[in-house]
Amino acid sequence: MRQPRRILVTGGAGFIGSNFVHYWCKKYPGDRLLVLDALTYAGNRQNLADLEEVANLRFVQGNICDRALVDRLLQEEAIDTIAHFAAESHVDRSILAPANFIQTNLVGTFTLLEAFRQHWEMRGKREGDYPEGVTASHRFLQVSTDEVYGSLGANDPSFTETTAYAPNSPYSASKAGSDHLVRAYYRTYGLPTLTTHCSNNYGPYHFPEKLIPLMCIHILLGKPLPVYGDGSNIRDWLHVEDHCQALDLVLHQGRVGETYNIGGDNQVSNIDLVQTLCDVMDELAPDLPVRPARRLITFVKDRPGHDQRYALDIHKITSELGWSPTITFTAGLRQTAQWYLDHPDWWQPLLSARKTVIQ
Ligand code: NAD
Repeated sequence: MRQPRRILVTGGAGFIGSNFVHYWCKKYPGDRLLVLDALTYAGNRQNLADLEEVANLRFVQGNICDRALVDRLLQEEAIDTIAHFAAESHVDRSILAPANFIQTNLVGTFTLLEAFRQHWEMRGKREGDYPEGVTASHRFLQVSTDEVYGSLGANDPSFTETTAYAPNSPYSASKAGSDHLVRAYYRTYGLPTLTTHCSNNYGPYHFPEKLIPLMCIHILLGKPLPVYGDGSNIRDWLHVEDHCQALDLVLHQGRVGETYNIGGDNQVSNIDLVQTLCDVMDELAPDLPVRPARRLITFVKDRPGHDQRYALDIHKITSELGWSPTITFTAGLRQTAQWYLDHPDWWQPLLSARKTVIQ
């Protein structure tokens, strides 16, 4: 029988973290969740508002680089699992101001690893330290990205888990560095780690600076839709709900010390995506300020070092853990567009925080 877990979710007020918390509370209501989030511009406690009253959830506003705080929380809550989402995550911001990326993504991950190692070494094997019925099988789940592998040409084979790292932006380099630390903590100390590399996510609660929410909102406002370069860059898109299901499987059944790619098997060029989204919004929102929405598409100067293509080989997670994506891009994009149409109260207050970046 499954034992309840006590999970520290870092970055649980961000896009994927909050979707993960929603997913987990619904599926495992007996688990204890502790969300630690600094509430940077990308974090929003509103993302968890409907859960805080009902779920077995505690929210702490704080920084993963704060070692004393992390130590205290691990001990107070007898944490056995860390699901590590907290990061600076926007490539454009990493080009403009990389320092925060090094601090949070590298130093923050190191701080968590070191605190969790000591916690695990002191308490992990002593059953008496845990509340009755709580598993002592510790896990550190590193939620990483396909961007650490670099960029693919049009005909290159997809990235596998053994592809050499070749990050191209300060964001992906800082994530790559943190992955190496996670690997080293497994190899050196035996810390029970798991690492996942996911492709581009989309879905509800996505901060309006990222491509899909940005385009949805600009279409609703009748503002230009900025597309980098000629729009030919290709990304592999996965609905965030499918990502959460994959993380669930990796946490429960993944082999300790291993890495797993999580992708949508769904490669789409940026321009095709934006055009499709325009058509979906034309259909869902008859009173758009500019119709057809495709008239708003504007090509802008390309991002420096812009990766041309990402594609993930997901054979390992499919064959070992039986996971594959379930939400088609057509259905997922429509559901996401509808969510932004239905939730102006969520995104309108966030628009000012978004203005400091290129898009
Ligand atoms: P996000 O930017 O939406 O959320 C990040 C969260 O971390 C925010 O709530 C923020 O307040 C918090 N945070 C930032 N710095 C912190 C700090 N020092 N201490 C505590 N909290 C801090 O990011 P996201 O898109 O939800 O991504 C989550 C994770 O998934 C990241 O590690 C990212 O690298 C990875 N990832 C994202 C995608 C994607 O498409 N969004 C794809 C693959 C992997």
